[in-house]
Amino acid sequence: MTIDLTSEQDQLRDAVRALGRRYGHGYFVEKAKAGEHTTELWAEAGRLGYLGVNIPTEYGGGGGGITELAIVCEELAAAGCPLLLLVVSPAIAATVIARHGTEEQRKRHLPGLADGSAKIVFAITEPEAGSNFHRLGTAARRDGDDWLLNGRKCYISGVDEAGHVLVVARTEDSSTGKLKPALFIVPTDAAGLTRSKLDMEIVSPENQFLLYLDDVRVPADALVGESLDAGLPALFSGLNPERITVAAMGAGTGRYAIERASEYTATRKVWGGRSIGSHQGVSHPLAHAAVQVELARLMIQKAATLYDAGRDLEAGVAGNMAKYAAGEAAALAVDTAVQALGGAGMTTEYGVATLLGAVRAGRIAPVSREMILNFVAQHVLGQEKSY
Ligand SMILES: Cc1cc2nc3c(=O)[nH]c(=O)nc-3n(C[C@H](O)[C@H](O)[C@H](O)COP(=O)(O)OP(=O)(O)OC[C@H]3O[C@@H](n4cnc5c(N)ncnc54)[C@H](O)[C@@H]3O)c2cc1C
Repeated sequence: MTIDLTSEQDQLRDAVRALGRRYGHGYFVEKAKAGEHTTELWAEAGRLGYLGVNIPTEYGGGGGGITELAIVCEELAAAGCPLLLLVVSPAIAATVIARHGTEEQRKRHLPGLADGSAKIVFAITEPEAGSNFHRLGTAARRDGDDWLLNGRKCYISGVDEAGHVLVVARTEDSSTGKLKPALFIVPTDAAGLTRSKLDMEIVSPENQFLLYLDDVRVPADALVGESLDAGLPALFSGLNPERITVAAMGAGTGRYAIERASEYTATRKVWGGRSIGSHQGVSHPLAHAAVQVELARLMIQKAATLYDAGRDLEAGVAGNMAKYAAGEAAALAVDTAVQALGGAGMTTEYGVATLLGAVRAGRIAPVSREMILNFVAQHVLGQEKSY
C-alpha cells in the first residue's frame, strides 16, 4: 500500500474541498434548522461527478472505487457538511446494485445514483432485532409472481428524499428453516409503505424514520439479483463500503472541528499578550485529537485500498477498525474543540457544538463500537462469542 494518493485522487480531494467550502457548515446548519435538505449541494456534487465516483463508467459513474468515494465523504465533512446519505446511497445502495443487481437493475438505477438525480436509502434496522440481524422480522412472501413485504424498520435515514428504499427482509431457507436475507428495491411511494419521522437530537438536514410495511406488493424484479441466493452476498457487499465511508465522514468532521478550534485558540488572548493556545492545557488535547484523527485516516486509507483491490476479508477487518477509530476520534475532536472554544464553543455561530449529536451517533451507527469490538475480539483475537 502506498500512502500517496494518485494525482487524480489529489485533484478530486482539492475539487471536493473547494465545493464543500463554497457551501460550508453555516449552510448545513441553516438547512437543518429550517427542516430543509442540502438539495443544492447534492445536485452540484452530482453534476460534478462526485456522487458517482465509485460507480462503473458504463452506468454513468466515474469508474473509481471506495477510495475515491471516501475522499468525497471526508472532504465534504471537513468543510462542515457531513452528508450521511453519501454513505447510504452511493456507498451502500450503488455498491449492492453494481455488484449483485441484475443488468436491468444496474441500467435502471445506477445512472441516477451517479448523477445525483436519484437516491436509494437502506433499511435493515428493526425495533425488535436491533444489532442482532439474525432476528430480522420483516418477511418477504411470494404471491404469484410478486412479493409481499410485511414488517417494521427504524432509524431509516433519508426516506423523505429518496425514490427507493433497499429493504432487507427475511425469507426462509427451505432446507434449513434458517434466515435467508433478501434485498428488495422498493419505491418509497409504494402502497402499504408508510413512515413517521423520528425526533432526533442531531443537527442535520437528513432525517430518520420509522417505516411500516403492510402488504407492500413489489414485482419479482424488485428482488436484488437473479435469485434468492444473491441476498446474503449482496447484503455483505454493502457493509465494507458503509464502514469505510462513514469512517471517512467521521475523520473529516474531526478535521473540521480541530481546524475551527485551532484558528480560535491561536488568536484568542485573555491573559495579556499570549494566545490561549500557548497554554498546553488547551493545545495538548487538540494535538492529541489531531493524532487520533490522523491515525484513523491512515486506517481508512488501508481499508479502502484493500477493498478496491478486491481483498474483501482483509478490508472487513480494516474497515471495522477504521470505523471504530474514526468514530472515537471524531467524538473526541468535537468535544475537545468545544472545550477549547469556551463559551463560544456552545454557540451556533462558531459551528462546533452543532456537530455533537452527529459525532455521538457515529459511535452507535451504522454499527456500534461494541459490535465492532465483538467482531475484532472474535475474528482477530479468536475469542469465543458470548451472545
Ligand atoms: C443517526 C442514525 C442514522 C441511522 N440510519 C440508519 C439507516 O439509514 N438504515 C438503517 O437500517 N439503520 C440506521 N440506523 C440504525 C443503526 O444502525 C442502529 O441504531 C445500530 O445498528 C444499533 O442498533 P440499535 O439502535 O437497535 O441498538 P441495540 O442493538 O438495541 O443496542 C443497544 C446498545 O447495546 C449494545 N449491544 C447490543 N448487543 C451487544 C452485544 N452483543 N455485545 C455488546 N454490546 C451490545 C450496542 O452496542 C448499543 O450500545 C441509524 C441510527 C442512527 C442513530
